[in-house]
Amino acid sequence: MTQQDISDIKELLAHPKKIVIVPHKNPDGDAIGSTLALYHYLIKHNHSATVITPNDYPNFLKWVPGEDMILKFDSQNKESHARIEDADIIFTLDFNAFHRTGQMEPALTESKAIKILIDHHQEPDDYAKYMFSDVSMSSTCEMVYHFIHMLGDTSTINATIATCLYLGIMTDTGSFRFKSTSSTTHKVVADLIEKGADNANIHNHVYDTNSFERLQLLGCALSNLKVLPEYRTAYITLSQDELNQFNYKKGDTEGVVNYGLSLDNIIFAAIFIEDKAEGIIKISLRSKNNFSVNAFSRAHFGGGGHINAAGGKSDVSLTDTVEKFINILPSYKNALNHE
Ligand code: 5GP
Ligand code: MN
Repeated sequence: MTQQDISDIKELLAHPKKIVIVPHKNPDGDAIGSTLALYHYLIKHNHSATVITPNDYPNFLKWVPGEDMILKFDSQNKESHARIEDADIIFTLDFNAFHRTGQMEPALTESKAIKILIDHHQEPDDYAKYMFSDVSMSSTCEMVYHFIHMLGDTSTINATIATCLYLGIMTDTGSFRFKSTSSTTHKVVADLIEKGADNANIHNHVYDTNSFERLQLLGCALSNLKVLPEYRTAYITLSQDELNQFNYKKGDTEGVVNYGLSLDNIIFAAIFIEDKAEGIIKISLRSKNNFSVNAFSRAHFGGGGHINAAGGKSDVSLTDTVEKFINILPSYKNALNHE
């Protein structure tokens, strides 16, 4: 984002505008935190702003300030279309290509609004007039903080905005432990706490509100864990039957893939989750060091993300997907053993 871009955006935001803010499908803490932080910032500056998520999000995010004002594109389709058609500006946050919004893609492609992208995923598409893309950033929430800073406006960050931003930095950094957590991240977080983010309370909302069934599902996932030491790889499967058995709810499998990475000497972890309704196997990949799961997912599972965290999917059965995965590993044996 150039100095010229910043002054253009300042001018654009100098008068009240109709603004839509969109995160990716199946929004996570960073997607919800960043869009709502920007929402609160914009309405404070007298804009008319709406967050539209492609679909619903987990219960552990259903406390975030302003969350009750979110429109869901799939279930509130007519109103969502109207807001998109009417928008002067559309901010797209925490994703890099329109297809990441699922069924919202055509509406975004057709919209004549000025697009502003703020995102930290690899290889962003070129759809936005103004692009703030930085793959080294811990989170889109950290970027929204920097965006507000570039606008010279951090003094307007109140406890509500700070809470939203803290949420996404916390979730995307695995509570400040991933390599993407920089000294700047910590400075931002320190400022957010000073501005009123209640760190213990936010952590409690996200991580300490499990249902009994969710923990039982985790037990099932861990008992399905397989380790392939020659490839320093571990993977977990969850079938639709297993999900049903534990009354699966959206978000229940969030973070489970990380258990594979917690094994000594394992640097590549995967989880394969059967989704009968969508007819796909949802794949999450995580890695350590320089082994790029973004590249791995792009090459084999039609997805992408970051070097150490990426998603993807497969159209064949759970068993066939796992077989495909295992058959691919020998060609990465060197890379996996030299990390
Ligand atoms: P998760 O495994 O939690 O679904 O995703 C891990 C990371 O990769 C997240 O930052 C997520 O936004 C991103 N991601 C997931 N699926 C895709 C995809 O298909 N394409 C891209 N570019 N990123 C993805
Ligand atoms: Mn993110």
